[in-house]
Amino acid sequence: MPARIIDGRAIAEDIRGLCATRVADLVNRTGVTPGLAVILVGEDPASQVYVANKIKACDKAGIRSFSHRLDAAVSNKVLIDLINRLNDDDEVHGILVQLPLPPHIDMRAVLETISIQKDVDGFHLYNVGALVTGTTIFSPCTPYGVVKLLEHEKIEIEGKNVVVVGASNIVGKPLALMLMAREATVAICHAKTRDLAQFTILADILVVAAGRPNLILPQMVKTGAVVIDVGINRLPSGRIVGDVDFDGVRAKASFITPVPGGVGPMTVTMLIENTLQSAERLANAQ
Ligand code: NAD
Repeated sequence: MPARIIDGRAIAEDIRGLCATRVADLVNRTGVTPGLAVILVGEDPASQVYVANKIKACDKAGIRSFSHRLDAAVSNKVLIDLINRLNDDDEVHGILVQLPLPPHIDMRAVLETISIQKDVDGFHLYNVGALVTGTTIFSPCTPYGVVKLLEHEKIEIEGKNVVVVGASNIVGKPLALMLMAREATVAICHAKTRDLAQFTILADILVVAAGRPNLILPQMVKTGAVVIDVGINRLPSGRIVGDVDFDGVRAKASFITPVPGGVGPMTVTMLIENTLQSAERLANAQ
């Protein structure tokens, strides 16, 4: 039987609906409307689309967004001063700096300026380090979205062999730590891994985030494996595909995510979830 397709779009829609209810409840109970500040530096077209999508999704959930568009030539100081002001602003519960930043900007210094209580992207060193100890305030959105998909489908993580292909700071590494915290046995592969298939074939849960179309072929996948494709690749034809040979692998796997419509919609959803959690935490502390 072909794998069951994990419908990330529908799951994301459900979670966003629940978030909208929680937002309305928070506003009624406390008068606090969750707020997200989004900082975009420069005119990168892809970043503009991502930011517009994030703002639209927040709007729909009842989260107020504060958009700050800065010139590509902005100085480190101006950017850091802005973040400090947002750190002190009670109407802002989450601060997101859209990456990548222009090369003259000190990205680490910028991310480290964001208050750890408002770091809804989870990129501050505190939140990165806290993934190791299990004390994160915010988990990074894409890996968090992958974990939520697995949980939604009631796929057991504890004791499973998980192979993560891709070791970036924003997807592969944090995801590996999050799955380890859920007591999976995790292997991380990357571009220098020799004979990728000898690892992937052992995976009960295979997560692929490499950005290479057709990297994962059916013979590299164990029968019955759960396959989560994080990759987003635009082919010369304009078609968007993941990293997995979807049709071939679907015939062997038990669950599989499509691209588009799998992990992608969950990333923005987790940003909404993190911003809402931040506002709830603050309101409950008062
Ligand atoms: P990255 O370029 O920062 O990292 C890619 C990782 O894959 C690296 O660790 C690299 O060593 C590894 N890799 C590359 N080629 C490989 C190969 N042949 N075999 C094994 N490993 C290989 O990328 P990233 O930012 O982590 O993103 C990865 C993919 O996920 C991209 O396609 C990106 O567009 C997509 N992505 C999707 C979402 C989403 O919301 N769905 C979010 C972030 C990234």
